[in-house]
Amino acid sequence: MWKTAHEHVLKLIAYEPGKPVEELAREMGLQPSDIIKLASNENPLGPSPKALAAMRDALDRSHFYPDGGAWALRSAIAEKLGLARENVVLGNGSNEIIEFIGHAFLRPGDEVVTARHAFAVYSLMAQLFGAKTVEVPDPGYTHDLDAMLAAITPRTRQVFVANPNNPTGTMIGQEAIDRFMAAVPEHVLVIFDEAYFEFLDHPPDTLKFVREGRNVLVMRTFSKIQGLANLRIGYGLARREIADVLQKTRQPFNANGIAQAGALAGLEDDEHMRHTRELTREGREYFQNEFAALDLEYVPSAANFVLLRVGDGDAVFQALLKRGLIVRAMRSYKMPEWIRVSIGTMEQNHRFIAELRALEGQGLLAHAATVGV
Ligand SMILES: *Cc1c(COP(=O)(O)O)cnc(C)c1O
Repeated sequence: MWKTAHEHVLKLIAYEPGKPVEELAREMGLQPSDIIKLASNENPLGPSPKALAAMRDALDRSHFYPDGGAWALRSAIAEKLGLARENVVLGNGSNEIIEFIGHAFLRPGDEVVTARHAFAVYSLMAQLFGAKTVEVPDPGYTHDLDAMLAAITPRTRQVFVANPNNPTGTMIGQEAIDRFMAAVPEHVLVIFDEAYFEFLDHPPDTLKFVREGRNVLVMRTFSKIQGLANLRIGYGLARREIADVLQKTRQPFNANGIAQAGALAGLEDDEHMRHTRELTREGREYFQNEFAALDLEYVPSAANFVLLRVGDGDAVFQALLKRGLIVRAMRSYKMPEWIRVSIGTMEQNHRFIAELRALEGQGLLAHAATVGV
């Protein structure tokens, strides 16, 4: 009977996550402690100590169902951002919010507009609901909002703008966003995916569109700067009418209580976020300087990872694996010559550059003039 699944589900190619440390250890006969994972843009400092303490506390209440309405966390997020609790929807990771908007708004034959090198989950979710993804060229690996606007048709339901974008690390500024929002038609939901928002030095303001009652969904997450990727907790911010619709699509207890407790405590830990931001900036500058010195092409990044052109991305990925380093090969993002490397602790960053130099010595890397974007 498996063949009776929806045709578009049968055709779906599942998301390929970064390789877990334990799996590589098994495959290569290495100790997990010898392996460095720079593959999924996680926080190398781990969660905030305050979040850890709150989660240990919450473990004692594991036999109770969580607060399904997440009163405390939604209130704290709203207060921090100058919104109302009714504007906040929690997800089992912000990825789940992408599924909510599919449930709520997508019908077979609808269109979803993304950049060509956008986060893979947008098109996966579109396909899950039988919608078609319209990919718009992104010169310089940066979203072209004018071209994305021009790609909108009467069938378009959603436009995804990841800012900064993953896997490219590029961002778009306030002016381009404002111009786009002034022209985007009313039948379209604009999703600003701001998973890396907290890493930005000069973040653009998209919450003003939520306050103005525009058809906008802003997504953020505790997986990146908060170091809670394992807990699966993120959120969407939208005008009340949209948020209310999304609340109806979710399971009653989609955000578990341990994650809620950790997120609530982490939200208040400005020191941990500041430290993470500084470490990220230092590591990013170090990487980009080293890549330039090696005459490797890279895309200047605003986030906690850098996209690097190595020639044969799969071969370099495999060679690094053998040395106990997990990065991300970019073939599935239509960039087979590239790898993406997350910024780790400086010790991890030094190890990555040392291994990269070793591959350079073996003639495994392709050179190119560094592009400025
Ligand atoms: C990591 C990431 C997310 C976050 O996903 P979670 O489900 O919250 O862990 C969302 N969007 C983009 C573009 C990302 O890179």
